[in-house]
Amino acid sequence: MPNTQTISGSCLCGQVKYQATAVPLFQAHCHCQDCRKNCGSAFAALVFVPVDSLNWQGETKTYTHKADSGHTMTKHFCSNCGSQLFGENDAKTDRIHIKVGTMDDANWFHPQCNVWASSRLPSTAINPDVKDFATMPIPPAKT
Ligand SMILES: [Zn+2]
Ligand SMILES: [Zn+2]
Repeated sequence: MPNTQTISGSCLCGQVKYQATAVPLFQAHCHCQDCRKNCGSAFAALVFVPVDSLNWQGETKTYTHKADSGHTMTKHFCSNCGSQLFGENDAKTDRIHIKVGTMDDANWFHPQCNVWASSRLPSTAINPDVKDFATMPIPPAKT
C-alpha cells in the first residue's frame, strides 16, 4: 500500500507551481508513442493522484487529443516554457497524472508497472521487478 506523499513541483521557468497531498493511485512508466512525443523522452514517468488533491498556481495551457483507445486526453503545460505537467483522461475523471520529471523531489517514485511495454524502445532498460502490460490496462472507449 503506497504511503501518503506530499508532492510539490514546478515547470522549468517556475511560472506554474503545484502541490498535492495524496496516496498515489498509480505510478507507472508509459512507453506509448503519444507519451514519447508529449514528453520528448524515451518514455513517460507518471504518478496518478485524485484530481481533488492537486492544486496549482500559474497559467497552464491545454492540448486535447484522442488516444488510440478512443478516450479524450488533455495535457496541461506551462504557457511560458512549455514544460508538460499534468494529464487527464476522460475515462477516469476522478484522477489526474503528474509528470514525475516536474517534481521537486521524486526519490520516492516507484513505478508499479510499464504500460504500453509493447512500444518500448529497444534501448530502454527492462527492470524485471516491474510488471509489463503490453498496452494500457483500461478498457477502450465505446464507439
Ligand atoms: Zn514554465
Ligand atoms: Zn503513454
